[in-house]
Amino acid sequence: MQSQSLIKVETVEKKFYLDSETVHALKNVSFSIPQRSFSIIYGPSGSGKSTMLNTLVGLEPPTSGKVIIDGQDLYALSPDKRANFRARTLGMVYQTNYWVNSLSVLDNVCMPLYLSGYSRRQAGLIAMESLETVGMQDYAKKRPTVLSGGQQQRVSMARAIIANPDLIVADEPTGNLDTKNGDMIMNLLSDLNHKMRKTIILVTHNLEYLSLSSHRVQIRDGVATEDDGNFGLSAEEKQERIKRLHAGLSKQAGAAHGEGPTIAELSNQLAQAASNGDSDTHKPSEHLAPLQNKSLDALTKKKKGRS
Ligand code: ADP
Repeated sequence: MQSQSLIKVETVEKKFYLDSETVHALKNVSFSIPQRSFSIIYGPSGSGKSTMLNTLVGLEPPTSGKVIIDGQDLYALSPDKRANFRARTLGMVYQTNYWVNSLSVLDNVCMPLYLSGYSRRQAGLIAMESLETVGMQDYAKKRPTVLSGGQQQRVSMARAIIANPDLIVADEPTGNLDTKNGDMIMNLLSDLNHKMRKTIILVTHNLEYLSLSSHRVQIRDGVATEDDGNFGLSAEEKQERIKRLHAGLSKQAGAAHGEGPTIAELSNQLAQAASNGDSDTHKPSEHLAPLQNKSLDALTKKKKGRS
């Protein structure tokens, strides 16, 4: 069930004081992110998404108000403790990746574990598991910048999950990708939510992904409105649809081969059918092969063993 909140944002205000003006970027924002939800924060450019995201992950102290993650008031912590808390609690994926280019893909993925005191050998083994999860193990020794945008984004996902955080925050992760690679990243996020029971927060201006979410926060001119993305369905009906959509996504490698529906198409079908009251919306395409399921299952088992 998704009723328990992992994050509570309470009456957050954020103002930027410039020389000649004050920008009121977040206005009395309150919302919750349910545990194990696939939450989407969306809104047009300039609406306050990045400011909200930075505030949410501990990088931008609010002018007033609170952000509570897992019972912890984030900004009551000292900056050092907050950084440690972030490292333990969340993994980030950005639109543009920042790599240490003198290091290999493997070492870049290892980085969060080096910072947590793991030995190079231990970190390397875990990083290889993470790379397998995203299908990038064969690129471990390459430099990150020789990879394509889609490959870099998959490596970035491997880095985000390496410390096994409960929360993955993805900031426009498909923004620089074509549909095929964008769908692959959405597949991975969906699987992390569904199979590894991670809470996902996706920040996007792309409305095509909205019906993948179980929870949504719209930001407009700094004002947030929250809804559960039910499309007028009961919570049970929506859960059932999401389950079916996830099942379909796991099978949906077709886009990678230039065939079968894209996530946008699946997503539109779901929204369309929901508004029509169609009860048999999503039939997963039979010809589509599972994407990364095997390695994801393997990682889930290994990580369970570790914790
Ligand atoms: P979005 O991510 O939705 O595009 P932002 O959060 O980046 O929106 O911006 C919201 C508003 O806050 C905009 O008017 C932007 O110019 C302003 N803003 C964001 N960051 C700063 C900053 N560091 N200094 C001054 N103004 C800022």
